[in-house]
Amino acid sequence: MKVITYEYHGVLGVGVLSNDGLYISPFALSKEISALGLLAIVEADAAEVPLKTMDDSIPLCEVKILAPIPRPRRNIICVGKNYFAHVTEIADQGFDTTGGRGEAPEFPIIFSKFPECVIGSEDEIIHNSKVTNQLDYEAELAVIIGLPGRGIKKSDAMNYVWGYTLVNDVSARDVQGRHKQWLLGKSQDTFCPMGPIAVSKDLIDLSNTEIKCWVNGELRQSGNTASMIFDVPTLIETISAGISLYPGDIIATGTPAGVGAGLNPPRFLGHDDLVEIHLSEIGTLRNRVSATS
Ligand code: MG
Repeated sequence: MKVITYEYHGVLGVGVLSNDGLYISPFALSKEISALGLLAIVEADAAEVPLKTMDDSIPLCEVKILAPIPRPRRNIICVGKNYFAHVTEIADQGFDTTGGRGEAPEFPIIFSKFPECVIGSEDEIIHNSKVTNQLDYEAELAVIIGLPGRGIKKSDAMNYVWGYTLVNDVSARDVQGRHKQWLLGKSQDTFCPMGPIAVSKDLIDLSNTEIKCWVNGELRQSGNTASMIFDVPTLIETISAGISLYPGDIIATGTPAGVGAGLNPPRFLGHDDLVEIHLSEIGTLRNRVSATS
């Protein structure tokens, strides 16, 4: 199932995208519940509340697409340095703020982004030049948790997954480095583009899914989820060991090689740059960088 959260004539809705990708069948929900987007669907699924879609469909071309979960209930959980080629590229360019020298982390590196920095596809990433001169992109597969749990074992972890979306883990490298902890460098307003849609877990094979990122049409990142250092079950086991996970929690699983800071010389984002992140089942998450302010 492909789920899309949208605005249509000023009203927020959530629905199922047709197989041809042209029409939306809205879920029959109140205005208030619809405004939660995919979160309403995931929470209903977790509570085993059956949902129906309405008979009338809406052409996709008539809506504004929103982030699947426009305002997550909690911080987006993120994983750092989870693809080896990315670990080495940032070490080589002197951007490893954890003091690493290109070796794979022994344990997953976990940080988070504030829910308020989520934006949808086609929304603008703000480049605030008073804060950063090293604005960067990170294409990532994001896991959407479907069931509550704590102490989840690897072998059972996929039962807790609802599905997936794409996230651009936008990063201010200078802020990341200066403040050591990553929250400020990762949670600036608009630093979490998400979408364009979310898909249920049956649609993605984690053992072989390509994720790509272009900047102004130039291919920068081309990775495969098979190359994660810590796979999704390991991440869920690690995070949930002593922290309860809830339906609608989002885990961004780390970025492959090819970020701006990893290039030689580094190439950061600036005014009017267009970042496009693509995964075949989810589509293209497309965000332009605003005028520098
Ligand atoms: Mg990241």
